[in-house]
Amino acid sequence: MSSELKKALIESLIRPEIKALNSYHVPDSSGLLKLDAMENPNPWPGGLTQEWLGTIRQVEANRYPDPAGSKVKAGLREMMSLDAIEAKYGCALDILLGNGSDEIIQMIALAVASSERPIMAPEPSFVMYGMIAKFVGMPYVGIDLDAKFQLDTQAFLKAINLHNPAVIFLALPNNPTGNLFAIDDVRLIIEASKGLVVIDEAYIAFTDSDLLSLAAEYANVVVMRTLSKVGLAGLRLGFLVGHSAWLTEFDKVRLPYNINVLTQASVEFALEHYAVFEQQTRQLQVERKALFDRLSNMQGVSPIESEANFILVCCDTVSAKLVFSGMKARGVLIKCLDGAHPLLANCLRLTVGSAEENEAMLVALSFVLSSIKSAASSSSIEPLT
Ligand SMILES: *Cc1c(COP(=O)(O)O)cnc(C)c1O
Repeated sequence: MSSELKKALIESLIRPEIKALNSYHVPDSSGLLKLDAMENPNPWPGGLTQEWLGTIRQVEANRYPDPAGSKVKAGLREMMSLDAIEAKYGCALDILLGNGSDEIIQMIALAVASSERPIMAPEPSFVMYGMIAKFVGMPYVGIDLDAKFQLDTQAFLKAINLHNPAVIFLALPNNPTGNLFAIDDVRLIIEASKGLVVIDEAYIAFTDSDLLSLAAEYANVVVMRTLSKVGLAGLRLGFLVGHSAWLTEFDKVRLPYNINVLTQASVEFALEHYAVFEQQTRQLQVERKALFDRLSNMQGVSPIESEANFILVCCDTVSAKLVFSGMKARGVLIKCLDGAHPLLANCLRLTVGSAEENEAMLVALSFVLSSIKSAASSSSIEPLT
């Protein structure tokens, strides 16, 4: 086939909305201090790594994994005290496992896919909600947050009326803003919705907020979580908690064996040692506070209070793109959100790392901020406002 023909074939076969997309871009981080992706910076302490290796040595890679991931689910059930919630609300809750919670979002979308009823989410929020809507051919409606990154409830309720969304995603804490939404607003949205509401608690380990019981309380709510931000990003394990009736349907579009044997064995092991992760995530909350205080005292940047393991920082007078590239040149990789949404103009997202990592990041940030300012004043170019 000639390359002309190949081009024409691709043109005619690939859906236009897919052609219009860019693949999810993950920047090369080799050699850089990686503070762009909300990873836990800590390895497993002391002898735990050895013990873990002992566990996975017994894994039979020639065999398919347990399709249901029963032991993983049992461990998660205990970790979340699901039995107590079931008893309190008199209902049966199930767990659905995904290859990361990204895959859970995809399963939900696949199961409801409709060209009439959209997926809806506040903006800015997690970009995968909109991307996955496109993958499955669903319309997507984003509703802007207000200037304080809270839900614009009136606009949201109006849009619910107008578009009758099949699924609404609400992330609490929200990514990339780091804040929680007011629970009264969340309840108003749940009660107004004639579709499913997915509460995304990817950052549950870093906040006192816990909305798991909403999945028991409301017939149209499920709660999604992940082990990625806790410290197991590399294993890819997300999970959904909800009434069995919902999860039975989502399970039908799950590919068999979506959680591989190494992940299952490792997560079973990790859940037996969950106290280690709780200790690490508590420490990261301490570091978040210290980092926030330092950023608050820094000239030229405004940090937003965060309930997650990252802090959104908006630059007051200098270009965030310049700060991003300056920091990268000094070996620190953060996330530049300038251009992602009007509310994120000139904003950066800093993952909370260890005390040493945060210190190195702050040194790079203040160096870059002052060198941009002195370059601007010496060249009489007005700093960006
Ligand atoms: C990181 C993140 C996820 C996805 O995490 P997985 O690694 O796919 O489990 C989901 N929702 C939000 C809001 C996130 O920030």
